[in-house]
Amino acid sequence: MGMLADQVAIVTGSGRGIGRAISHALAKEGAKVVISDINEELCQKTASEFQADGAEAIAVPCNVTDSASVAKMVEAIIAKWGRIDILVNNAGITRDALFMRMSEDQWQAVIDTNLTSAFKVTQPIVKVMSKQRCGRIINIASTSGVHGNFGQVNYAAAKSGLIGFTKTVALEYASRNITSNAIAPGFIDTDMTKALGEEIINKILDRVPLKRMGTPEDIASAVVFLAGPGSYVTGQVLEVSGGLYT
Ligand code: NDP
Repeated sequence: MGMLADQVAIVTGSGRGIGRAISHALAKEGAKVVISDINEELCQKTASEFQADGAEAIAVPCNVTDSASVAKMVEAIIAKWGRIDILVNNAGITRDALFMRMSEDQWQAVIDTNLTSAFKVTQPIVKVMSKQRCGRIINIASTSGVHGNFGQVNYAAAKSGLIGFTKTVALEYASRNITSNAIAPGFIDTDMTKALGEEIINKILDRVPLKRMGTPEDIASAVVFLAGPGSYVTGQVLEVSGGLYT
């Protein structure tokens, strides 16, 4: 029996990348996991792979920018398992450009997917957690949201907003035994960062004291800590970045 046995966890954007690794780590600790992603096919494929591996997993496709889609997802989870113990707001996108060249569409897409989504997903789920008098909310922010980053004014603003959101939810729901924390990954080896190209990645690695990119599993371990033993931690931002910005 794992430390999260019988707990129900939903991770948004968990078809691939960091979200998939988080779901896998939670399932390894015994949690029942909801694989949720905008990409329906990927969602089903990931859930089937987890089931084949012995995990209790269901696929519930959801676009986190669409309140109706979120409502359907929450309904499906409650119909299946009747509770939600762990929410990881992970779905995110980048639309990088220098500030002067950034279009309003690039700005808005990132704000909608990386920040407003947390409002849309957390509001119905925190209602469920409030009734249970327990819950763990973990928001995947970014070191860009703490320190800023060239070419990412939209992304940094959204992730910084997500950190403010995290701290305020922590204050408002502590009395219900619900914790709310953010993880700020540095540079993690996923499709999102592969798009940067080798030259930029090597320049970044020069600045990372641990001299390697993070893995999705590095982020997943931090999530497992906050979902499990970290019960006295709330309103915090944990940087998982190999020492970047130290
Ligand atoms: P990926 O692009 O590899 O995966 C993101 C997943 O989210 C994809 O499966 C994607 O679906 C899904 N997604 C995108 N938009 C939506 C939406 N509207 N609704 C539901 N799902 C959606 O990214 P990572 O795994 O690298 O990133 C995960 C999180 O970690 C993000 O919040 C990111 O900002 C954050 N992060 C990542 C870092 C890194 O270095 N990789 C560093 C710091 C933070 P689809 O397959 O259709 O695109």
